[in-house]
Amino acid sequence: VAQKWIMHLDMDAFFAAIEQRDDPSLRGKPVIIGAKPGGRGVVSTCSYEARKFGIHSAQPISQAYRRCPQGVFLRPSMEKYVAVSRQVMAVLEEVSPLVEPISIDEAFVDITGLDRLRGTPRQIGGFTKQRIVDELGLTASVGIGPNRLVAKLGSEYEKPDGLTVVPPEEVLDWLAPMSVARLRGVGPQAQKKLARIGIKTVAQLRAWRREDLARNFGAGYSDHLYDQSRGIGGDTINTAWERKSISKEVTFGEDVTDPEELLDTLLYLAQEVGRICRCETLQGTVVTLKIRLEKFETHTRQTKLDHATCSDRSIYRAARELFQASGFAGRAVRLIGLGVSDWESDRGRQLDLGFVSEQSDQKLFEAVDALNAKFGRQTVRLGPGRKPRGKGERGSE
Ligand SMILES: [Mg+2]
Repeated sequence: VAQKWIMHLDMDAFFAAIEQRDDPSLRGKPVIIGAKPGGRGVVSTCSYEARKFGIHSAQPISQAYRRCPQGVFLRPSMEKYVAVSRQVMAVLEEVSPLVEPISIDEAFVDITGLDRLRGTPRQIGGFTKQRIVDELGLTASVGIGPNRLVAKLGSEYEKPDGLTVVPPEEVLDWLAPMSVARLRGVGPQAQKKLARIGIKTVAQLRAWRREDLARNFGAGYSDHLYDQSRGIGGDTINTAWERKSISKEVTFGEDVTDPEELLDTLLYLAQEVGRICRCETLQGTVVTLKIRLEKFETHTRQTKLDHATCSDRSIYRAARELFQASGFAGRAVRLIGLGVSDWESDRGRQLDLGFVSEQSDQKLFEAVDALNAKFGRQTVRLGPGRKPRGKGERGSE
């Protein structure tokens, strides 16, 4: 079996970099893309100049404004960013046909076995970055390693404009001094808890036996930590076409017990997942709810629908029923996620949902998606679903 090589590419300050590219007067300035200052929304992306003021994604816009009133505050031009995103993905597809977009500005690429054609992994990474500079006038950070975990940690290792290649035999040494905060799914709560038992670095984490970790963090989450500390991760790239599921999750900054807030968050997630399904003309028949409680206790609940759907409303309805039947209402929830899977095999029959009410929903959703693409995500929403006050959001990974 050939050694697997996975590349992760992440565009640098994507929205802000596009605005600075297109308007030279913005170059060198703190540019903040997101909600209107004075409003209730959050920062979507900001330029590296803005980061020096302590501004970051998902921060309340009011706080960003307080830190940097002289900054240039712009509303997102999603239509433009989506067009550039397609160009980025097209460059990647020229490098290898196995591209899995993770978000608008990030993708995994399987570059296994391309050495004859395109050179070493480092050469492939350098060449890809150069193509993006030449053709799009933008920079990206790239990580390359034997699996998705190492590739993703690699692209974050040196930013912006980074290129980090970690061959399999160097993975353990490379990870050892790294802060556990860098690992996937290790939020502020987990960091505190790890620090309390003397774990700050990956090397310290690696010294723990699986069963001892499980005693502190529960079976599922401790396996996740155990594997990451050893650089173990998946190496399968799912192109959009063969994607098995579409999911989104939110990790709350503070645990949430209010069922209303959790249902609002589920509605928001249903809208996000529905939008991605419609973008990719996929309709699923299984809805999955994921909930993480205190002590990293993680549960999933699934339901099979009687028809395939990409409708926010149907996804939400199924998720709400799962939540209400779960018995977790009133418990402190740390993370909540929602996914759709088990696609209807006849892909592309977009409007043929078989349900009259679903059909009218569908038209409405398309109109909503078009408006949101034009004026920024979640300009128009169906129902009260609000952007959660979560600290981290993740797509299907
Ligand atoms: Mg990025």
